Amino acid sequence: MANKRDYYEVLGVDRNATPDELKKAYRKLALQYHPDRNPGDKEAEEKFKEAAEAYDVLSNPDKKARYDQFGHAGMEGAYGQGGMDMNDIFSNLGSIFGDLFGGGGFRTGFSGFGGGGGAARRVLRGTNLRIKVKLTLEEIDRGCEKKIKVSKYVPCKTCGGSGAKDGKTETCSHCHGSGVVTETKRTILGMMQTQSACPQCGGEGRIVKDKCHDCHGDGIVKSDEIITINIPAGVQDGVQLAMQGMGNAAPRGGINGDLIILVEEQEHELFERQDANLYYNAFITYADAAMGATIEIPTLNGKVKIKVDAGTPSGRVVRLRGKGLPIMNGYGRGDLLVSLNVWVPKELTREEKKLLEELQKHDNFQPHPTKQERGFFDRMKEMFNG
Ligand SMILES: [Zn+2]
Ligand SMILES: [Zn+2]
Repeated sequence: MANKRDYYEVLGVDRNATPDELKKAYRKLALQYHPDRNPGDKEAEEKFKEAAEAYDVLSNPDKKARYDQFGHAGMEGAYGQGGMDMNDIFSNLGSIFGDLFGGGGFRTGFSGFGGGGGAARRVLRGTNLRIKVKLTLEEIDRGCEKKIKVSKYVPCKTCGGSGAKDGKTETCSHCHGSGVVTETKRTILGMMQTQSACPQCGGEGRIVKDKCHDCHGDGIVKSDEIITINIPAGVQDGVQLAMQGMGNAAPRGGINGDLIILVEEQEHELFERQDANLYYNAFITYADAAMGATIEIPTLNGKVKIKVDAGTPSGRVVRLRGKGLPIMNGYGRGDLLVSLNVWVPKELTREEKKLLEELQKHDNFQPHPTKQERGFFDRMKEMFNG
């Protein structure tokens, strides 16, 4: 199976197909290419297997998401060299189409649990992988792609993830691949059937006779991988993002764990952040505050010019709508709140001192604040409701 066909193409459905449409498409192909209807036909068998694998992926939300994002590369090692195992296909068919194939229709072995109601073969799951990602406000503003080196479990290349030397596993002889053993007991209520995990294969249905040397039979090995993750715009410090199926691979072709990304926000040199809003302290000269001016304000996307009105009191807050951060999982952006502060020099030249002394003589330059200007709470209101 070197060049695999697109799974959607295999089933003849489009990418938005509903679970029901997928099932219908698979049912049709499974009937058409079923080995019992096409004895000895190699091509039909390949088609039958191909359809089974496509359905196995697309009917599983985890695998489908991985396939949609990464294509066949995302499925690496999930199926052995020869595609899906026939026993797996039949046991799946049995549980999906129990109504159709049950009652000894095509083949024994998949009518096993009458429509999939009972115990099922055990599928191992990989563990979740946790990483921390440090982001600047600029990266949070736009959303970004990060390449990160992680040490994680991946399917063993030597054995194709099967855990077996040469990739050959055997169907468990005790449970015939079902992973489940059924016991029938006579009780006072009559015959009772109990099902439990097969003790010989641990419920996996397959046995590794000759263990692969590289992975000691686990089918997975630790490896340093560079993974690419997409960070959506607007994330916050402490937010956890989960990427399904991007965590550690499971032993012997099970389901991958998830990748959990913890967002750590780096402090910004200029801005403070509160949710989607940004705060910036601007400094203006006394002359600009008194006479008015146009000044430049930095934003996360370059500088913008704003007008300072004549007679602007120190501490006035100007709200620049939409110049904050994008709202995560929502629409629009926060604002940039600019506090205009009058800069008071710490040292003066002789000439500056002379000019200021001139000003001091004028009555207008003596502080005579109104009640409102004195009011601390009014100032706070202005800041938060602008
Ligand atoms: Zn191996
Ligand atoms: Zn078994």
